[in-house]
Amino acid sequence: MLPLLVNYSTKIFISDLCELLEKYLDTSQIKEVYRAYLFSAEAHDGQVRKSGEAYIFHPVSATYILAEMHSDTQTLCAAMLHDVIEDTGITKEKLEAEFGKQVAELVDGVSKLSTIEFRTREHAQAENFRKMLLAMNRDIRVIIVKLADRLHNMRTLGAMRPAARQRIAKETLEIYAPIANRLGINIIQSELEELSFATLYPKRYKILAYRMQKIYNQRSETFNAIKISIEKQLAKYTFNAKVYKRKRNPYRIYFNMCNKKKSSLPNKTFLQLMNICALRIIVDNKADCYLALCAVHSLYKPMFECFKDYIAIPKSNGYQSIHTLLFSSHGMLIETQIRTIEMHKLSETGITTYGLEHFSNENDYQNPSYQRASEWLRELLEIRANDSIEFLEHVKTDLFPEEVYVFTPKGEIMQILKDATAIDFAYAIHTDVGNKCVSAKIDGQYVPLSTQLSSGQTVEVFTAKWARPNPSWLNFAVSAKARSNIRHFLKNLQHDEAIRLGKHMLDKELIAYSLHVDTFNEEQITSLLKIFKCNSMEILLAEIGFGNCMALIVARQFDPTPSLPTETGKPKPLIIKSTENIVVNFASCCHPIPGDDIIGFISAGKGIVIHIASCKQVIQYKVEKLQAIEWEVGIEGEFLVDIQIEVNDQQGVLANVATCITNMKSNIEHVANENNDGRSILKFCISVKNRHHLATIMRHVRRLSSVTRIHRSRG
Ligand code: MN
Repeated sequence: MLPLLVNYSTKIFISDLCELLEKYLDTSQIKEVYRAYLFSAEAHDGQVRKSGEAYIFHPVSATYILAEMHSDTQTLCAAMLHDVIEDTGITKEKLEAEFGKQVAELVDGVSKLSTIEFRTREHAQAENFRKMLLAMNRDIRVIIVKLADRLHNMRTLGAMRPAARQRIAKETLEIYAPIANRLGINIIQSELEELSFATLYPKRYKILAYRMQKIYNQRSETFNAIKISIEKQLAKYTFNAKVYKRKRNPYRIYFNMCNKKKSSLPNKTFLQLMNICALRIIVDNKADCYLALCAVHSLYKPMFECFKDYIAIPKSNGYQSIHTLLFSSHGMLIETQIRTIEMHKLSETGITTYGLEHFSNENDYQNPSYQRASEWLRELLEIRANDSIEFLEHVKTDLFPEEVYVFTPKGEIMQILKDATAIDFAYAIHTDVGNKCVSAKIDGQYVPLSTQLSSGQTVEVFTAKWARPNPSWLNFAVSAKARSNIRHFLKNLQHDEAIRLGKHMLDKELIAYSLHVDTFNEEQITSLLKIFKCNSMEILLAEIGFGNCMALIVARQFDPTPSLPTETGKPKPLIIKSTENIVVNFASCCHPIPGDDIIGFISAGKGIVIHIASCKQVIQYKVEKLQAIEWEVGIEGEFLVDIQIEVNDQQGVLANVATCITNMKSNIEHVANENNDGRSILKFCISVKNRHHLATIMRHVRRLSSVTRIHRSRG
């Protein structure tokens, strides 16, 4: 393995662990962990790791990692036993009998997590993510044990084959380090990052680590001088403050060098990044944080854009601190974090500390990281994404957030994602607010719902009882919550539309029997549902609407002597209201537009497909599958239509025609070009409002000098 900046690979013995446990656990608790050790050692007896050492060193080391963060007894026992189910064939029931239900559940959860690999295609990954979240949701400590397990595996990665090393390091960097970050476990996150980075890019890591060490040695005098000057300044005040030099994470330096956009620092070259003295000031209480801030700001001038108060507005993982970047008199920047001891502990070990024994009683539990983590998990699991890739997108935006803070009119702070819009804000307040949202104001000015928000704005949204989600919102909503709710609503809408359509189609067929869906009696409904194996009339109507069930056949159930029904009354045609009606499809062979005579074809699974009445396709269809249809008067929307234009092949002709079309407020969806003896045929697919609109466009195009012929193509 490479020489790391920090030595992570000391061998841990059970005696080391017990010594550490004595610092914060009582004797009976230590005995319990020791009992788990004996059990695990016996179970793994005879097994060796790839490195050649006895297997038990691995669980002991994983447990030690968690003990360093003062985890509770159950978590420690679970860490000690984490590979027992998977590798030794000891059952969950046996563990439960020995160590209780919670420990057994934890070990079982970790075993389940271990079978999940994130290297496969995106689709499989998403499923794995969902499985992982479900495992975590049973008891969030599952992921804590898993992180410690992964950390020790990363520390001892050298024994693995190169290909396995790469795969594990990549998975660690992309999945586990961000999760550690999201749970606020900084210690694990930064070590995982450094180890993965060193494995994935050994040369880059080596050079970077070497140069960091060198620069650090060169500047240690300056660093000390700065530290002393700040200590002296703080001593003038009457509160306790300790100043520490901070370790720099080489992966973070590398990350900031590569990701210029994401870095919050103004300078991005290696030397500029290293021209920073990283300090941390730790004080007793919150008020002192601001006094310390006052002290350092009166000594060195702060860089205005780099000041962040995460005490007033904590990060989403619960992280709190004041960040300020100062200009020192030594030509160096001083990156300062000011925080209390509690804030520090929380930022290092996040949800792992504060005795998770209180786990069963959530009300007693005061660790804010834990509460935020549970909330985050719950929200992720509530996402109603049907599609795995969509779900993965949600998880990814939530795992790698760039946050923006805005205010409600009452002055409450809302945290939203970068690029989030007013509609995201509405959904962030409440699902109902999002669903009924009609307009928004930013800092008192009305703005479109698609307006992107930026930090510090006051945002107000207005709702109306009649309002409902608009499909177009999906074009600009970015948050998982907003997107999944809009999608969910549209899916329901589709169902409602199918019912409406199904009812209409069935009513049309029922005319022959002088019946109506609305006037069916109990008996008629029961017999229909039985014959067609549906649980409710709504489902049956939707099935008809979606084209999975024929209205004619359903209606014939009321005819004792099946024969073609004679028309006793002319059925009303179905009215097509707009392109947003989802179970209605427009045939791509003839592209009907408002004003055309149309006819519907009922297609299984697709609902109704609309053709121009004279379309060649329609002739092939069975009469009973056709449906009379009319456009709604004054129908609005955009409809696609194909046109063919013959032109003399001269330069710029395509551009001229395209400009002419777009000038007529039509969008070009598609264009193809066919050449034929110096003459070209341009095939356009354009959007129009109706026949009149199309006629106007064609008239204008025909006037162009290079155009010899133009006509609409109908399949
Ligand atoms: Mn393991």
